[in-house]
Amino acid sequence: MSDLRNKRVISAAITGSWPTRKDNPNLSITPQEIADDVYESWKAGAAIAHIHVRNGDGTPSTDFNKYKETIDLIRAKKDCDVCINITSSGSVGFKDEERIYPLKQLLPEMASYDCGTLNWQHRTIFENNPQFLEKLGLALQESNIKPEIEIFHAGMIYEALHYLKIGVLKAPLHFQFVLGCPGGMANTVENLVFLKSLIPEGSTWAACGIASGHMPIMMTTIAMGGHIRVGMEDNVMYQKGVPAESNAQFVARAKRLLEEAGLEAATPDEARQIFGLTRKVF
Ligand code: ZN
Repeated sequence: MSDLRNKRVISAAITGSWPTRKDNPNLSITPQEIADDVYESWKAGAAIAHIHVRNGDGTPSTDFNKYKETIDLIRAKKDCDVCINITSSGSVGFKDEERIYPLKQLLPEMASYDCGTLNWQHRTIFENNPQFLEKLGLALQESNIKPEIEIFHAGMIYEALHYLKIGVLKAPLHFQFVLGCPGGMANTVENLVFLKSLIPEGSTWAACGIASGHMPIMMTTIAMGGHIRVGMEDNVMYQKGVPAESNAQFVARAKRLLEEAGLEAATPDEARQIFGLTRKVF
């Protein structure tokens, strides 16, 4: 086993559900574009690819065939051993089974687990009701898929602790803090420090900050021993007024920052060890 103490995992959140080509013309939409984007991000240093899929018109989708095509295209790149993390959110308004079915069929190593319902970006309700969270947690356990517990505000951590207590989630937990999303907590360093103080000993965690919080949250995360998420799901601008060229551009910057801090980007197999993922056959 390699020494993992200086390794940090970079996840690339490729498209998400909300950004559009109007926000950034370089956003990937089709399965082929997403798979190529994942490959370039992996080459730049990402160990995990967090995947959403889109319909042809760019709207969010939970179409199983699109997930399958995307994953197959990634797996067809023979040298690429990136860990696959599939969203369980899709977007708002999808039925529970639609959200769970692709995970159980495609068996990614990780899947997002949004631990509570929130008012999403002042636009709509992102629903993750108790029945759905129980079903999803148990389905992920059955399929040996590690939940990436997405946290938008502190109450969601207490929800996770409840599901841990009743056996829907199993320790060690892995948390993904997403800060700066309207409806959630603001993208401040103080909030990140507070959230990290609430998670159980032995948990792993990563963070990302949206918009103006992108760099401060990334640098604080590095300083605090966390892992990093970057990508167009969270940020379409590379810096103020400058649209990102690609997800790989974000990954490359994160890797450079790690290296400047005397750290290294974890390989996918190192990420599997750090997060306790089960490598699936591919
Ligand atoms: Zn996502």
